[in-house]
Amino acid sequence: MQFCTLFSGSSGNVVYLAGEHGAVLIDCGMSGKQTLDAMARAGLDTASVHAILITHEHSDHIKGVGVVSRKLGVPVYATEGTWDGMAATLGDLPMRDRVAIHPGESFFLDDLEVVPFSIPHDANDPVGYRFFLGRHSVAVATDLGYFSQTVCDAVSGSEIVLLESNHDPELLKSNPHYPARLKSRILGKKGHLSNEDSADAAVRLAQCGTKHLLLGHLSSENNTPEIAYRTAHGALSSAGAIIGQDVSLHVAARYQASFLYRY
Ligand SMILES: [Zn+2]
Ligand SMILES: [Zn+2]
Repeated sequence: MQFCTLFSGSSGNVVYLAGEHGAVLIDCGMSGKQTLDAMARAGLDTASVHAILITHEHSDHIKGVGVVSRKLGVPVYATEGTWDGMAATLGDLPMRDRVAIHPGESFFLDDLEVVPFSIPHDANDPVGYRFFLGRHSVAVATDLGYFSQTVCDAVSGSEIVLLESNHDPELLKSNPHYPARLKSRILGKKGHLSNEDSADAAVRLAQCGTKHLLLGHLSSENNTPEIAYRTAHGALSSAGAIIGQDVSLHVAARYQASFLYRY
């Protein structure tokens, strides 16, 4: 199993996960060219990609989906609500490449078992994903208004978790470029996970066996990698975890591939 983010943040998200017989992209929120170039830079084989899984229809998750699906000739998986929200923006896609999935109903792609789960976010039926390959598992949980029980149950026990750490609430509240409505959307129960809430979730995950935490989907204006890292590090340390020994902690870069986790 190989796992990394290629892009992560409010400017665009692309995640790569490979099993033994094929790989998937989770979201494709940069242009097709940027996505394929990033895979080449990271040494990842585009021919290994057998599907694109979408979390929700916001543009930072779907910008390049149509182009990459056509270029690689691979199907796109999304909930019916997400299809309603994005179908018109993807361009021509044959019906066989439009696959509807349902939260809580698992399916297989090659040797990967995929479990989509509902997330609290202001989109049509958005989901996160957990993947199982043999005894290993990985979860992608970003765009979370809060760390709901559904999300907690779905991702607990994953060895690797990509967890949202979107904003510092004080930076967000004092940001003069953000209108009040946008601030309350981000801070709301269907918005994005703050560093503090992410850090609390990180502690719960570490206590349930997660070995690798990758913080992602950082806001470009209302967060920095240093603040996100420090907040999670502080909470994990206070809970008694030794970073680098009990659990590894990294921040996914906005425009660069993250560390490539291999099992
Ligand atoms: Zn979103
Ligand atoms: Zn997003």
